[in-house]
Amino acid sequence: MNETKPSSDRGKIAKYLDTVDQRAADLYKNIGDKSLDQPKLALSYLAALANALEELRVVEEEICRHNEVLQQARQELENERHRYQELFDFAPDGYLVTDIHGKIHDANRAAAELLNVPQKYLSSKVLTNFVPEEQRRVFRSLLLQLRSIDRIQEWEISLLARSKPRFEAAITVVTVKDSKGKVIALRWLIRDITARKQMEAQLHQIQLQNLELIEADRVKAQFIATMSHELRTPLNAILGFSSLLLRHVQRRFEPQQFTMIERIFENGRHLLSLIDDVLDFSKLRSHQLELQLETFDLANLVVTTVEELKPLGAKKNLDLQVHLVQDHILVVNDRNRVRQIIVNLLSNAIKFTDEGQILIEVDLMPRAHLTITVRDTGIGIAEADLTFIFQEFRQANQTMTRSHGGTGLGLAITKALTELIGGNISVESELGQGSTFIVELPCQVQLSTRKKL
Ligand code: ADP
Repeated sequence: MNETKPSSDRGKIAKYLDTVDQRAADLYKNIGDKSLDQPKLALSYLAALANALEELRVVEEEICRHNEVLQQARQELENERHRYQELFDFAPDGYLVTDIHGKIHDANRAAAELLNVPQKYLSSKVLTNFVPEEQRRVFRSLLLQLRSIDRIQEWEISLLARSKPRFEAAITVVTVKDSKGKVIALRWLIRDITARKQMEAQLHQIQLQNLELIEADRVKAQFIATMSHELRTPLNAILGFSSLLLRHVQRRFEPQQFTMIERIFENGRHLLSLIDDVLDFSKLRSHQLELQLETFDLANLVVTTVEELKPLGAKKNLDLQVHLVQDHILVVNDRNRVRQIIVNLLSNAIKFTDEGQILIEVDLMPRAHLTITVRDTGIGIAEADLTFIFQEFRQANQTMTRSHGGTGLGLAITKALTELIGGNISVESELGQGSTFIVELPCQVQLSTRKKL
């Protein structure tokens, strides 16, 4: 709508009226001055009168048109008001209009529902009455503040609905001012935030429990560290003495006694590796495992580790092969941890393979990465088990692995270690078709970029 039109129309109409008025005055003056016995003169006055009347008709038409425009504008305003009233009424949050003392003038349905008072009875009620006794003083001071500030945003307060438990609300108040800038009313938006508050309380509770769990984890890790230290000391003595007996005083024992000492030594070693696994796992879980980075030749590490494990493979007539992409592969990593990864994968391959071959390959990859692949021709892993073999204490085939021994921690530690040094591990396998474990590592581990587990 062109807003300047009515006022310019009004100017035009006033001008028309002025002209007609002027003509009528001239006519009146002329008629008063002259005698009317001359018919010619009378005719000319009549013609002037007819002209004036014609102009008046034009003015009348102009007024009618102007009236129509006004009617239309009024209708549009009414529609707009209706739209806003509907928005106000059906808004999901509570809306109120009060005077500056908090006396309610208007309330929408949501406000009536929130305060549990029928909409028509809310008018003239005082909002302060819905505020719990102990918060009223603060509420009144908020009302006073609103005379000098324009808006209060998301103020959290409890409200008392009629015959219902109190609820938590977030209130936003905006002032309504007259043309002189004096505050004449307040518009309130009231949102029930009970559910949000409950969620926040739950979240807080969960955070507290989380902290307690972290502390419990720390205490557990500490306990495991102390326990493994305490266990390791006598175990090392058992291992030391039994290996001494095996090596030096071998001839003094009957073969049966010798076998018993051998079993003491083997079981002791097994127990020690178990304690080491539990300790490592606990450290990895509580992020206490520190890496010792150094530059070393990975090719050399692979060859020597395979040599160490060859006797284990030889017991089962397994052929252990190494394929290296080049004779020397210099890397920056934690040598002992990389060795631990290789030992875990190789000893699993030997454990779960009864005949055939075990192959360990090292390849260089793009973006300064390399892969260590361990392939075996063993029992393989069913597809359903592939998803959880990396989880702690999970074993693919409980009866099978029970006969092979093991705790189900090896792969969990291997995965956690691999990720700690910024790499990842994957497996391809099929039941009865052997397994392939692929470890991808960066050639140079940087402490700042390694992943937090
Ligand atoms: P553990 O060997 O002590 O049982 P791991 O975490 O090292 O625990 O391995 C978890 C399970 O994954 C094993 O129990 C076994 O079922 C399966 N697994 C691991 N490596 C192989 C492999 N090379 N061939 C077949 N199964 C394997």
